[in-house]
Amino acid sequence: MKLKGKVAVVTGASAGMGKDIAYLFAKEGAIVYAVARRAERLEELAKSAEGFEGNIIPIVADLTKKEDAERIIDFTYNDSGRLDILVNNAGIMDDFSPVGDVKDEMLEKVFSLNVYAPFYSIRKAVNIFLKQGRGNIINVASIGGLYGSRAGAVYTASKHALVGLTKNTGYMYAKKNIRCNAICPGAVETEIATGDFMKNVNQEGIGIIMPSTVGNPRSGKPEEIATVALFLASDDSSFVNGQCIVADGGWTAY
Ligand code: NDP
Repeated sequence: MKLKGKVAVVTGASAGMGKDIAYLFAKEGAIVYAVARRAERLEELAKSAEGFEGNIIPIVADLTKKEDAERIIDFTYNDSGRLDILVNNAGIMDDFSPVGDVKDEMLEKVFSLNVYAPFYSIRKAVNIFLKQGRGNIINVASIGGLYGSRAGAVYTASKHALVGLTKNTGYMYAKKNIRCNAICPGAVETEIATGDFMKNVNQEGIGIIMPSTVGNPRSGKPEEIATVALFLASDDSSFVNGQCIVADGGWTAY
């Protein structure tokens, strides 16, 4: 068991990769505080982990709100008396708009969830980690955080920001026994395409980006990202810090 007795927060745990990360972590012995807005989905997930060495505790939160991004960390620490692993996974896509077409509402919402929420949660968590003398942060970024044309301007900028925060945090706290890494997935079969801004995509933007998807050998399953998260969460990756691990089936190797 790779995470026996560890306390983890996993955001965006009601669907997709976050759900599989929370499930796998609990299977590996962790006490997982699973965060999302849809309470019933989280309750179902908690039930699915019954009988595991670890368990899943739902926290309902809207991470576009600063107070919620901070509360999830405070609640976990107060409830369990410790915090070992923070997985910032919750995120939404934009509508593929180039910068000239971006509406303020989308800019604010995507940045609130994809950048500000991890920022506020990490800030809280790091101060707990410093007191404890250890901690581990995993951010789910994207290959859109490493390359310029996997999404629109807002999503691309938000994931580049998360990659920057990952590297800065990894290095700043490297001597404090705190690690911070990112996973950069390629296309993964989840509910992300049903997000608010994907319902009405920018035709010009998607037209420019779509040809780059032709070279993608295949899409991934959320469980194939969960195993990468487990590696980063466990001591197996003790010397890996400030890095972005691409999991894309080889797409960006082209
Ligand atoms: P899904 O849409 O399947 O799941 C998103 C999760 O985020 C859900 O649990 C959702 O729960 C939660 N969430 C959304 N909005 C909020 C909010 N305001 N407050 C709290 N939780 C919220 O997405 P994926 O699993 O695909 O995405 C996970 C991460 O992976 C994201 O950061 C995404 O950008 C990234 N990614 C995804 C790729 C893909 O191809 N799928 C590729 C590369 C990166 P609820 O609605 O219940 O709140």
